[in-house]
Amino acid sequence: MPAAPAAPWPVAAASLGARLRADAARLAGGDSALDGGEALRWVFAVLEHALGLSATARVLAEGEPVARFSLDGYERSLARLLAGEPLAYVLGEQPFRHHVYRVSAAVLVPRPDTEALVEAALAHLAPGESVDVLDLGTGSGCVAVEIALARPRARVTAVDACADALAVARGNAARLGAPGVAFLQSDWYQALAGWRFHLVVANPPYVAEADPHLSQLAAEPRAALVAGPDGLADLQSIVARAPDHLNPGGWLCVEHGCDQGEAVRALFALAGFGTITTLRDGGGRARVCAGRWGGPARLAG
Ligand code: GLN
Repeated sequence: MPAAPAAPWPVAAASLGARLRADAARLAGGDSALDGGEALRWVFAVLEHALGLSATARVLAEGEPVARFSLDGYERSLARLLAGEPLAYVLGEQPFRHHVYRVSAAVLVPRPDTEALVEAALAHLAPGESVDVLDLGTGSGCVAVEIALARPRARVTAVDACADALAVARGNAARLGAPGVAFLQSDWYQALAGWRFHLVVANPPYVAEADPHLSQLAAEPRAALVAGPDGLADLQSIVARAPDHLNPGGWLCVEHGCDQGEAVRALFALAGFGTITTLRDGGGRARVCAGRWGGPARLAG
């Protein structure tokens, strides 16, 4: 692991800055997935949070003797980072697209990749349209709330199988000014028999159960990440059952793994979708599949 970058100016051995750099080196050490620069960013963030400092105030404080600061809260947060918790859980919040979302260990940490799912959904929702939108497996609520805030006339319903996740999502919707989002406990479409929507979005679990990358995600809910031997189990059932919940002309948009584009397009085709498109995330990786439901095919004869 590369070491944490040195301070741009000399820092005294007993300064706060030296202490933060030593802590960042511990955080990046061993089999940590963090590099030195990222570890330093995390350490700065927990210090600023614990002491209520702006980044500028923290820079100025770095030259001060460490003994001048009361670091109990910082040390508790650092211990959680060293135990493998993501920064978002330790801070209790994560920025996503245009807002900051509260998070707990009951929900997946919102990823920048998922912004592509929101953009795909918004592309199929005209600003003045009063249509019904469904977010499956809402987690923190970040997708449902971003859609509701960008399209205030849409009627957004968000479901999750996990009651603790729904409590987090409801709190985010209320705090960020989207109190109209309806939250419902449901295992995918289970509580939605007979309901139809213009747009269904989902960021389901899609990681394969033997994916080595999972060891770095151990603090997050496994049920939000893992979907069978190839990661496609939940995507398969969401896509196959979407026609029962879409109006003719409605759209399904799902997030998937960057190597699952072809497999997910095939699931859409098998379920009878048309206009099937793959969209890329900010890193240029295939990330979202969108398709239009034209209605049931007419039976021949
Ligand atoms: N993109 C996430 C990751 O691999 C997985 C999210 C998901 O399964 N929905 O870190």
